[in-house]
Amino acid sequence: MLKPSYLLPLLLLAPQRVAAETPAEWSKPYPAHRIAENVCYVGTAELGCYLITGSQGHILINTGLADSPPLIMASLRTLKIPPKDIRVLLTNQAHFDHVGGFAEMQKLTGAKVWATAADAPLLRDGGVSDPGGLSRFKAVKVDRVLKDGEVITLGDLSLTVIATPGHTPGSVSYLMTVQGHGQKKTLLFVNLPTVVMPLNNAKYPSIVKDLETSFVRLKALRPDFWVAAHASQCGLAEKHAAGNYEDPAGYAKAVAECEADFLAKLRVLPPE
Ligand SMILES: [Zn+2]
Repeated sequence: MLKPSYLLPLLLLAPQRVAAETPAEWSKPYPAHRIAENVCYVGTAELGCYLITGSQGHILINTGLADSPPLIMASLRTLKIPPKDIRVLLTNQAHFDHVGGFAEMQKLTGAKVWATAADAPLLRDGGVSDPGGLSRFKAVKVDRVLKDGEVITLGDLSLTVIATPGHTPGSVSYLMTVQGHGQKKTLLFVNLPTVVMPLNNAKYPSIVKDLETSFVRLKALRPDFWVAAHASQCGLAEKHAAGNYEDPAGYAKAVAECEADFLAKLRVLPPE
């Protein structure tokens, strides 16, 4: 018989074990709704998944947990979006709560997977190479590797890739122009650089530098609308209830709070 101490690493490696321990909100359905003219929310009560609709097909950012695809599919039915019209899958970060549904959504839609160079290895090996460890999900093929600053296009859609590493090595945000309140506005799909692994990290030696870079980049942006990988990070339910996603002040505050948390963790780092 295996002693519990031997069994524990095996349990931690099993994706279903991880999924079983996630908060209920992560798997709870949430109404699909419009954020801007061609951007819709199709995520769960906590896991932000965003559909951007275009003339030549659509882009889906994030797919939630392994158990999220049925909820996303229900949201697509509500919005009358044929799944096969989704051409590209993107993510904010290669963690199981945002890419756990990639393999299934890829199968259901036939979409291509585009990912940053630093998150692509995690997607390809199902999270095995994640320096934070413990994030496992079904591996997927990466069809295109994205670079910081490049503008990706699909038909009439265009998004600027803004690398915001640190939460995972390849965490990324996307900036686009939308029609909001009858005017052209900017919308940022942000991956807030929250610190989820040790800052003195042999498996990720550039983590502190990466987080510093991300805060410089995010503080330089002034998006009119913003949404995040986790719904609670951007007050999504409150914005949905108010019917207004325009919130530049809320963005600056969220980035400042996130940076303060990082700096506090940096201060208590033991000297090398
Ligand atoms: Zn994460």
